[in-house]
Amino acid sequence: MALQMQVIPVTPFQQNATLLWDDVSHDAVLTDVGGEAERLLNAVDKHQLKLQAIWLTHGHLDHAGGVADLIVQHTVPVLGPHQADDYWLQALPEVTANYGFPVSQPLTPTRWLQDGDKLTVGEHTFVVYHIPGHTPGHVVFYSQANSLLIAGDVLFRESIGRTDFLGGNHTDLIRGIQSKLFTLPDDTRVLPGHGFMTTIGHEKEHNPFLR
Ligand SMILES: [Zn+2]
Ligand SMILES: [Zn+2]
Repeated sequence: MALQMQVIPVTPFQQNATLLWDDVSHDAVLTDVGGEAERLLNAVDKHQLKLQAIWLTHGHLDHAGGVADLIVQHTVPVLGPHQADDYWLQALPEVTANYGFPVSQPLTPTRWLQDGDKLTVGEHTFVVYHIPGHTPGHVVFYSQANSLLIAGDVLFRESIGRTDFLGGNHTDLIRGIQSKLFTLPDDTRVLPGHGFMTTIGHEKEHNPFLR
């Protein structure tokens, strides 16, 4: 049984919303539903999947701004981020309006996530790492068996997340990447919240923020 993945960039920020599914059970998860709920639900239908949950890396509008809309159409639990991002999720109405996005309702997840929590998509397990710095409640999702990290806005190909927003902290971000991500195997595939996939090995060599 394999884990399947389709990346669906959403919003004007081209945020990599991701549909993950187990190709035996057809259980599926959507990560970072930033917007375009209709389009994401169409992908779920097209592959004839059973959507089990939404996982959120953090509370920014391009990652969480479409959730309130989606769960009206399709009731499903929302897992994450860490509770330290609550203020971002409560601010979604103002933040989405300020950026000219469709206005989102405030959002309270079904369950906050903690470092070390385990989540599943069918038979596939992902471990949650809490890595503050871009936002205080940012989490990432790692599947060892699939050599796959869903990194949100923590780590990009040859870059890192901005830390100039309210609650950002550059030192925390660097420390979290070094201690929790650069200890993963070099061949781990990294899917960032924006832009191209990379690997842990590539970032150790080429990321100018982490030399
Ligand atoms: Zn962000
Ligand atoms: Zn983002």
